Parts: sequence; C-alpha cells; structure tokens
Amino acid sequence: MKISGQLTVNDLPRVCPLLCRQTNPRYGEDQTRAVEVRGVRFGNGSTVVIAGPCAVESHEQTLAVARAVRRAGGDMLRGGAYKPRTSPHDFQGTGVEGLCILRIAREETGLPIVTEVMDTRLVEQVADYADMLQIGSRNMQNYPLLAEVGRAGKPVLLKRGMAASLGEWLGAAEYVAKQGNLDIVLCERGIKAFPAGEYSRYVLDLNVIPAVLANTFLPVIVDPSHATGVASMVEPASRAALEFGSHGLIIEVADFATGRPRCDPDQAINGETLARIVKFAHHRHERLLVEQHAAA
Ligand code: PEP
Ligand code: MN
Repeated sequence: MKISGQLTVNDLPRVCPLLCRQTNPRYGEDQTRAVEVRGVRFGNGSTVVIAGPCAVESHEQTLAVARAVRRAGGDMLRGGAYKPRTSPHDFQGTGVEGLCILRIAREETGLPIVTEVMDTRLVEQVADYADMLQIGSRNMQNYPLLAEVGRAGKPVLLKRGMAASLGEWLGAAEYVAKQGNLDIVLCERGIKAFPAGEYSRYVLDLNVIPAVLANTFLPVIVDPSHATGVASMVEPASRAALEFGSHGLIIEVADFATGRPRCDPDQAINGETLARIVKFAHHRHERLLVEQHAAA
C-alpha cells in the first residue's frame, strides 16, 4: 500500500527535479555543485568550517568570538541576530543592531557572515548585511519564507527540520531552487529521537550524509553543536561528520572571558578546541586532494 504524502527516495525526481542527482546527470554519481560565498567555496572538494556565537549579544562579545574564529583558522562567521527561542519571554536576539555588529566583525576579520532570517518581511533587510542566509530548523517547511529567500540573490544555508525526512528536506530546498537560486548548502543539525535530552540534545544523523550525497548534487555540512548540545561531544561529532563525507561544519563558539553566552552556553566550545577541529578539517581536505590525484 502506498500512503499519500509518504516519500521514498524513488519519489525524489518528482519532488525535487531541479536538485535531484537522477534528473541532473551532468553531475554524474559524485560531483557536487560548488557554492561560492564571498570567496569561500562549499562542495567540489573543499571543506568549510563556519564558527561563531549562537546569538549576537553585543559588540564586545561578537568581536571577541570573531577574532577567536579568525585565529583558529575558521572560514566563515556565524551568529544569530534574530533568534528562534522556545519561549517568547527568552532573549530574542539583538535584531538590526546585531546585523550591524556582524558587519563590523566581517570588516575586521574578513570572514563572510551567515545569519538566520525567520520572517518574510525581514528577508531584504537581512540579505543587505549577510553573505549567506540561514533558514533555521524550525522554518524548514515555511514555504513562503523559502520562496522569498530564493528570490533574495544570496546563497542559502538550509538546516534540516528536526523531524524532517530526506524527501521533505530536499523538497524544501526545491522551493529555493524554483526561484532560480541553486546556491544552496544543506545542513544536518540533529533529529528528534529517543532518548533526546537524556544525554544529548538531539541525535546526530550521520547516516543521512551519504544519503544526501547519493541523491542530490548540493553540498551538505553538519552542525555538531545543536545536534549534541554538549560541548565535549562537538569535536568527536565533527570528526565523525567529516568521515561520513560532510563538506563542512557549523559550530558554536564562545569567548568565556567576556561572559557566559545567553543562548546555548552548554554546547559552546572555546577557540582552542575550534583550532583543533579546523586543523583536522583542513588536513582531511588536503588528504582527499592527494588521494584523488593519486587515483587519477
Ligand atoms: C542556529 O543555528 O542558530 C539554530 C537556531 O539552529 P537550528 O535552527 O538548527 O535549531
Ligand atoms: Mn544555538
């Protein structure tokens, strides 16, 4: 029996013909589309490490973290100016002030910025500041937002919904692609599964990485910070993600000298740990290049 709405990988050519490997034979079995963000290239053999605070709280905090990311060798800066929080009474981010702070951090460090946009009415504003627009897990199926972001003319980081199947995730990406924007990077960030919360925040779905690589030509990265919710798990989760074929990482970092973060403090790593992860990621990239060369 086929239940309507239940997708399998056989449905992908119909659900996402613009992005599916099967319907885009020019990418062959293993070529990835290169997505460029201000000189940083995702996919096609490169390994990108994005890092930064969960939320842009202040100028002092963001600049301190941005400098730590630069020192550690990170490729891009993350940070939410607009934050999706479980309670409306929690800190919601610093909004346009946060966007200005991110711009200052980019000027000083040269790191391109990715930041979340949650509201169709704010896409133009956020796109004015950001080099890459992030769609958060909670908005993965906000179809009007996906279409608006698709029209904004900036590369998109599309996080997987925390309970989304591969087909739903790629279907969401297709909404962006349908607007003529194929500069999309997918991001696995952990899914809800038993026993989430007992020892980790979500369950990092490493298995989805090879499935993504087999079914679409889009690059895919992993967020080990939200997937685990535990700082000590971020480094091993990063290594595992890269071993599974991830094209990069997006990691939350804090500068504890300037204060404890107001959002997600338990999953933030320091600059030293980030430096080790960056070294591992970039070395792995070099190793892959050498192996490809030897095989050619
Ligand atoms: C984030 O990256 O800032 C974030 C809120 O993550 P997610 O949407 O995956 O929960
Ligand atoms: Mn966070």
